[in-house]
Amino acid sequence: MADKKQHNKKFNRNNNQDEDYNPKFRKMKKKVCPLCADKNFELDYKNAEQIKRFINEKGKILPRRATGACSKHQRVITNVVKRARHIAVIPYSQD
Ligand SMILES: [Zn+2]
Repeated sequence: MADKKQHNKKFNRNNNQDEDYNPKFRKMKKKVCPLCADKNFELDYKNAEQIKRFINEKGKILPRRATGACSKHQRVITNVVKRARHIAVIPYSQD
């Protein structure tokens, strides 16, 4: 699964993680929950590439405002990330 958001963009003017962020226009368009949007999408705690979408570079779980997930699926994401950390698929922390 290709990661559409490139966090390592060198010419990103702001430090905000969200590339939709615009200081002059802070109202963000409503995001659709990634798990609700694709019903065949199954979150797998063994799939590091998939889970990396929901954690930041320090290994922290992204908040709902960043993932866009609904409250039901954010809880699922949280559990999956914690499970993946436990079996060392993703790190607990970096740096
Ligand atoms: Zn959802």
